[in-house]
Amino acid sequence: MSGDLFNPLDKKYFKQVLFEELEIKKRMGELAFEISRDCENKQVVIVGILKGSFMFFSDLVKLLYIHDIHPYIDFMILSSYGSSTVSSGTVQLIKDITTPIEGTFVILVDDILDTGRTLSFARTHLSKLKPEQIKICVFLDKPSRRIVEIKADYSCFTIEDWFVVGYGLDWNNRFRNLPYVAVVNEQNLPGP
Ligand code: 5GP
Ligand code: MG
Repeated sequence: MSGDLFNPLDKKYFKQVLFEELEIKKRMGELAFEISRDCENKQVVIVGILKGSFMFFSDLVKLLYIHDIHPYIDFMILSSYGSSTVSSGTVQLIKDITTPIEGTFVILVDDILDTGRTLSFARTHLSKLKPEQIKICVFLDKPSRRIVEIKADYSCFTIEDWFVVGYGLDWNNRFRNLPYVAVVNEQNLPGP
């Protein structure tokens, strides 16, 4: 944990705010409606990939409640990035789910689909447990960065190749709590 103090609202850390809180809320409402239609008459298990998905996941399940969808909830902890903005290229399973998912409709939730390695690893891992179906649901999609072939079934927004933070997404495990999404200004970030 670094001892430096800085204010995340200080604009010098960000090049631009990409999605404001209200815009996210509005889009989340549409996404939850879309997902809820596919969940009808299914045994639904929502699996969040930590830590990045926590805010998106929490808002999503609350919206599904409004549509009378009451899923089983579980989490996996996977690690793909180290402490920088460059992918390490390998995915590690740190914590597995404990919910039985055989024959269920699984929604795998992550913050962002970038190279695709993390979600591809998670999907392969969960498919061994024989769910009826696995849907990929991400807050953000960066299709231009894809290395592994994988598509999101549900996504809030598609973005260019920018490194973004907020709404769960971190830089060195910080900025996850921002209720909006911003593009970081890497030159002005404090040391780790
Ligand atoms: P992938 O395995 O698809 O390359 O990467 C997935 C993970 O990389 C995400 O769950 C996220 O933790 C991290 N990641 C990819 N792009 C970004 C980004 O623009 N900002 C942040 N904060 N993390 C990212
Ligand atoms: Mg991350």
